[in-house]
Amino acid sequence: MVTSMPKLKGQHFLLSPACRTLSETKVARMSEDEAREMFAKLRWAKTGGEAFCPRCGCLGCYALPAKRKWRCKGCGYDFSVTSGTIFADRKMAFRDILLAIYKFANAAKGLSALQLSRELGCDYKVAFVLLHKLRECMEAETIGEQVGGEDAHVEVDGAYFGGHVRPANRKNDRLDRRLVENRSGKRQCVGVIRQRGGRTLPFVVADEAALVPVIGRKVRKGTTVHADEAAAYDVLHARYAMKRINHQEAYSLDGACTNGAESYFSRLRRAEWGIHHHISGHYLRRYAAEMAWREDHRREDNSRLTSTIVSLGMARGPSVDWRGYWRRWEDRAAA
Ligand SMILES: [Zn+2]
Repeated sequence: MVTSMPKLKGQHFLLSPACRTLSETKVARMSEDEAREMFAKLRWAKTGGEAFCPRCGCLGCYALPAKRKWRCKGCGYDFSVTSGTIFADRKMAFRDILLAIYKFANAAKGLSALQLSRELGCDYKVAFVLLHKLRECMEAETIGEQVGGEDAHVEVDGAYFGGHVRPANRKNDRLDRRLVENRSGKRQCVGVIRQRGGRTLPFVVADEAALVPVIGRKVRKGTTVHADEAAAYDVLHARYAMKRINHQEAYSLDGACTNGAESYFSRLRRAEWGIHHHISGHYLRRYAAEMAWREDHRREDNSRLTSTIVSLGMARGPSVDWRGYWRRWEDRAAA
């Protein structure tokens, strides 16, 4: 039985005063039931926190308080507040997850799993997987999104991350790290497409030339595109009104500048140097997405950020990358 969604009961929870009164001490003093209630309100915001079946959409569900679950009258499915979400199979208490998200939301340059595990007194592996799941949710917020359009200005740029080669102790042994043959081969380019007053879309690509077809897909026609003097961007003149800035001359000249893209990179660079020390390879994409999300939500208060991340997690299905990650890892190690 599929029941259509009911009308919104008043205001969306994210906009309600209850949502804005969150603080770290408040979260820490919450009972487990209160924290779970918060997750339920955010998951089922459209029905004012009233559970509906994740399998068939039926609104007729009754609570099974002893099991902390609900049962669907339509299809008989038993579900919890996290069933079918990225928090399914959670190892942590709701209050601890909420506290972790609050701390993560607060960390403008990012948060390392080691620090989180120390602060919460939880296992490093649990913190590591939770933080990566949160990054996955942040990335999902802009999946399929395009930017630009008539009168819109979009900045594009690329910067290189990872693949650090440590200089040798003695000067005579040191290699010229500018040469391709002396690099580790692990260096990757993060390309960014950032609309002024709009969204920031990061991509991990081989080099700036590989960003050009992505720009073609993600930036709507009619947009004014700002780019630096890199020759890779020359082909964009055929499709967009272009503003080029030569950074050897100035950072901003005749209305052309890529300072928005640069400030995104400086946030990602601070996360790399100051927090994680090493972001590369497979996970670079997720760190890049996290920092883009932080840029786009930078003017929102901490409680709003926390609630938004919880909502994203509740709307996101179980993680493909991270569900049972350590179990698979241990199985491989034992095999
Ligand atoms: Zn059902």
